Amino acid sequence: MIYADNAATTKLDTDALEAMKPYLIEEYGNASQPYFFAKPAKKALAAARESIAECIGADPEEIYFTSGGTESDNWAVKSVLFFSSGTRRVVTSQLEHHAVLNACHSLEKLRVPVDYLPVDNNGIVGISDLEASLHEDAALVSIMLANNEIGTIEPIQELCNIAHNRGALFHTDAVQAVGHIPIDVRALGVDMLAASAHKFNGMKGSGFLYIRRGVDLHPFSDGGSQEYGKRAGTENIAAIVAMAAALKKNCERMEESTRKLHSLEALFLDKLSGAKLDYIRNGSNTHLPGNINISIKGADGEMLLHRLDLKGICISTGSACDTVNTQVSHVIKAIHVPEEYAKGTIRITFGADNTEKEAIVIANALIDILKG
Ligand code: PLP
Repeated sequence: MIYADNAATTKLDTDALEAMKPYLIEEYGNASQPYFFAKPAKKALAAARESIAECIGADPEEIYFTSGGTESDNWAVKSVLFFSSGTRRVVTSQLEHHAVLNACHSLEKLRVPVDYLPVDNNGIVGISDLEASLHEDAALVSIMLANNEIGTIEPIQELCNIAHNRGALFHTDAVQAVGHIPIDVRALGVDMLAASAHKFNGMKGSGFLYIRRGVDLHPFSDGGSQEYGKRAGTENIAAIVAMAAALKKNCERMEESTRKLHSLEALFLDKLSGAKLDYIRNGSNTHLPGNINISIKGADGEMLLHRLDLKGICISTGSACDTVNTQVSHVIKAIHVPEEYAKGTIRITFGADNTEKEAIVIANALIDILKG
């Protein structure tokens, strides 16, 4: 089996697994309890918060643990419902993940106006488009840090400045970016940033929302006083510990793994070009390491996925989070990939475990299917 769909999910890191184990069996105390048995859980929670905060340049009090990217995005985006009336417009992009897009669609049903900014052919949101769309009623801008399909990294710092100059808050969906590219929330200037552990070798069903100090978001859930009273519910200590361990390790190895992933990309694409495949590489030059999104002329991405699957190779077509949908994805539409290429879009996302040999095997398998 060759797994090359690391944007969909990643393997749990073995050190993260070891770190979390004690909190599943021995140290299973509820961190909210006052007795001695709860202390290890409480300490682990604080240490994880501190470690995660350090990895993204935040303070520990600005990290709120959640059940993952979808929850974090929903919390941030739907928070506008609790803003003072009159200033509730949301501005987002056509490229967002459905966790943001569908949260916005729900807001529209509640009469919150939402603008969906176009992107250029590389998937970049235009600074001038954002400027033009920000009227007095704009309350929140939500633009993703890096796109899950084509890997494009957005100019968040500039976009965030514009939003702030017009008095709007700025949220970024950084689910694909955290643990993969350097992130400093202070340098970016964002007010909220969403992350998901299973995208950086942590557990599925855990993540966090960074909320800048001073931004008073309405609680996600009401109940106990967990997460500073903003996200009630007994914490999943084991998953949180694993998330912190995985993120720390990814951040420590980022330079080395970025180099490796870029060289796998080059190796793979050289093979395709050597076989004279007619394809377009989608996304901008500044993209997530290991992300290769290509549209092959006259091909059928869905067919390629299944043929590769039969050879034991896992890749993706369209959006990996939405595999029942076989149509051209909203991202490929938004970047205007020509029709004769668009249907032949596939995404290969290399990760920490992939090897040069695997990159060559996938490229050869693809060439065999298309030319054989
Ligand atoms: N945002 C982006 C950009 C994603 O890629 C994903 C998952 O694919 C999500 C949000 C949702 O994250 P989760 O799977 O943790 O709910």
